[in-house]
Amino acid sequence: MAFEKTFFCTQCGSILSGKNKVCRSCGFDITTDKPYGDRSPLGAGGTGWSDAVNDYRFAGYQGNRRTYITIFTLLLVIAIPTFLLLSGDLGMDKEGITVIAVLSAMFLLIALYSIRNTRKKGLEWTGTVEDKRDYYGSQGNVILVRLDDGKMVELPMADDTVKYDYFKVGDRLKKHNRPNLRTIEKFDKTRDEVLFCPSCAYMCDTRDDYCGSCGSPLLKGR
Ligand SMILES: [Zn+2]
Ligand SMILES: [Zn+2]
Repeated sequence: MAFEKTFFCTQCGSILSGKNKVCRSCGFDITTDKPYGDRSPLGAGGTGWSDAVNDYRFAGYQGNRRTYITIFTLLLVIAIPTFLLLSGDLGMDKEGITVIAVLSAMFLLIALYSIRNTRKKGLEWTGTVEDKRDYYGSQGNVILVRLDDGKMVELPMADDTVKYDYFKVGDRLKKHNRPNLRTIEKFDKTRDEVLFCPSCAYMCDTRDDYCGSCGSPLLKGR
């Protein structure tokens, strides 16, 4: 499976400049018919927990995201009151200033919450997929995981059928929940042809080592 949209070299992680799809660092050319040669995607993901979890690129991705959230929030805080004042929906009276203050405070709180989430360390676990519930309808699909300490957790899949299919009963899973990295890793990736980027969830080929969309390293075994 070769993907069209590529901003980073999926083999060495270098940035691909402009329209240039061929990597200047390692020569990998995604535009050819068989960029991976005769190598099969099956087995390429490897087995075992990845040791890439401490890679500096995860912090880079979340840092960019924090910058984006900050800029976006500041734009909202400026643009929305400006629009409301110009359109005449709000005046520069006591009521207008109160509405603007409340709106701005709300945007800032949401931004602080999102930024804090990228830095927070949460519960990490290992477990085994015990059951899958195909709820169709309101609740969405759910993966049921029996943790090693016996507890049960539900992973909501909403209507993401690709991810729902990715997890199979019996799969060993590990939840990484650390600053700059929160994702679920499968121990045995040899039966899959895709890997999800740990940073941006972009669907990658198992023969890739880096996410073509954001440049984060993929979690692979040996
Ligand atoms: Zn490269
Ligand atoms: Zn990514």
